[in-house]
Amino acid sequence: AATKTANIKPDLQRVLPGRIMSILIKAGEVAERMGYQVYAVGGLVRDVLLKVENLDVDLVVEGNGIELADQLAREIGGRVRCHEKFGTAEIIFPDGYWVDVVTARVEYYEYPAALPQVEQSSLKHDLYRRDFTINAMAVALNPDRFGELVDYFNGREDLQIGAVRVLHNLSFIEDPTRILRAIRFEQRYDMAIEPQTLRLIKEAVREKILARLSTERMWGELKSILEEADPEHMLDRMWELGVWDYLFPEITFWEVQYVISEIPQALMILRNWGWTEPAEKWLPYFLGILHLTTQETAYQICQRYNLGRRQTDKVLDTIAYGRVALKRLAVAEEVPLSELTKIVQTLPREAYPLFLTLLEDKTAIRRFRMVMESVHKNKPTVNGKDIKEMGYQPGPMYRKALDAVWRARLDGLVHTREEELAYVQSFLEHHQAPKMQPKQAKARH
Ligand code: ATP
Repeated sequence: AATKTANIKPDLQRVLPGRIMSILIKAGEVAERMGYQVYAVGGLVRDVLLKVENLDVDLVVEGNGIELADQLAREIGGRVRCHEKFGTAEIIFPDGYWVDVVTARVEYYEYPAALPQVEQSSLKHDLYRRDFTINAMAVALNPDRFGELVDYFNGREDLQIGAVRVLHNLSFIEDPTRILRAIRFEQRYDMAIEPQTLRLIKEAVREKILARLSTERMWGELKSILEEADPEHMLDRMWELGVWDYLFPEITFWEVQYVISEIPQALMILRNWGWTEPAEKWLPYFLGILHLTTQETAYQICQRYNLGRRQTDKVLDTIAYGRVALKRLAVAEEVPLSELTKIVQTLPREAYPLFLTLLEDKTAIRRFRMVMESVHKNKPTVNGKDIKEMGYQPGPMYRKALDAVWRARLDGLVHTREEELAYVQSFLEHHQAPKMQPKQAKARH
């Protein structure tokens, strides 16, 4: 290959945990024995060069990827799920961690008459299909070249100068999600979309390329953005480049921009108050985006992006109860802690960051903090598993029962685990069917 060779083994060792290193080394040994070449590619290589930890191992095999995955799994202890049709496989470890393996197809080029068929490096073809130069580097893993950087498109230099650059001019036409990905990488690494690439994005947006994208793929990328550490600048950029209107045509960006920009700060404050990050990291931002719309519009947006019932309910609850909760938290008279807690708990946990950014009244903020801290301290020991063991069908009543026992604790009605269990039991008996419909139950607040 006509490319500068560099060996980045020391960087790999410095940045990657031992477990990942062992997998890479083993993959190289297994490939060598099978007569294949194997490479780690994509985000891991990029991040190692940036000295950022990345645990996502993507392997490209020049040879049979599925066979390699099978053999590797046998030696390092995992099971394999393979997709024969695509020549891809995942090695899944008992703890849920997994490694992706893809086969780089060998492609033959016919040359005129006398010349033989020429086999192009199939790795190069695989890398050429990728989104940006910074994501199109590989590291060789076979023992005799372990750590050798394969960089056909000058990705390393682009990393150094901080440029997000596509590999060819049709890239965004080929796959419009790359527009969102360009924004994501640019903002994440504080880089700049390189001028020609930026021109291509603007052209693609002008030609309404994003309208062709399925909402499913759009959502995939949007969710990735909202799960980043700092999505707010990415959303700014989406607005600036005219991308926002394809994702949220119903929402005027500048009307929610300020609130969204305050969410990271709110997240930090809440963590200090004992609040734990929700599993769905994107939801606090999503709620920030949707909070000014009507329930109908919000519902349509949730439907469009195919959100589950639970997630949709959280969005609708936030819109339905948010404003009322804000007002009630700010009332002048003394309110008992359990009452304050009840108000806060009309909202999903994921709405707390938004809620905090919207609170202006000092008393209200102080009360919110009190609720957060005492709720944290008074966390009951009973949980969903206990309720299940009592024989109840999983459903919305679980949450309500747990909230109720929480409030009982705050007001000093229960102290021990036995008391909690008894309390939950009687609560569930008291509220049992036929009033188990979530909407009906909620209307009783
Ligand atoms: P992250 O740190 O966000 O996981 P990543 O680069 O690993 O970043 P993935 O979405 O996991 O991102 O993709 C893995 C690799 O697959 C990328 O590095 C890139 O080379 C390639 N890739 C992913 N999506 C595309 C796409 N839409 N078009 C071309 N290549 C892509």
